[in-house]
Amino acid sequence: MDCIFCKIVEGAIPSKKVYENEHVLAFHDIQPAAAVHVLIIPKKHIPTMNDAAGEDFALIGEIHKAAQIVAKELGIADSGYRLVNNCGKDGGQVVFHIHYHLLGGEKLSALNVRD
Ligand code: AMP
Ligand code: ZN
Repeated sequence: MDCIFCKIVEGAIPSKKVYENEHVLAFHDIQPAAAVHVLIIPKKHIPTMNDAAGEDFALIGEIHKAAQIVAKELGIADSGYRLVNNCGKDGGQVVFHIHYHLLGGEKLSALNVRD
């Protein structure tokens, strides 16, 4: 399967890992949009939020749990952060393996929902 995030999970493509457990992996985004920009992904390949079903929702919970841990480890838990999933074309999803953006380390602008 030609999925860049599956390749990161397998170690075939390098990443700057910040957290890993049996379910999820967190690594720094290659093109940071904020002082802290980490991607948190399930190790299981799920293309988009529309494809999540059944036990996948426990994995989504694991992602939120990892976000809490990573935010603490990177020192942004108290200052605050944003956790974002882009789904599909209008959501601006580019990589079709579910991922959450953990953004923080500076005051983020208000959500811009339009270009
Ligand atoms: P999205 O638009 O929600 O699909 O976000 C995809 C994100 O993946 C973007 O922020 C990219 O900068 C990031 N990205 C793409 N390739 C890599 C990579 N090899 N390592 C880390 N982040 C990546
Ligand atoms: Zn994948």
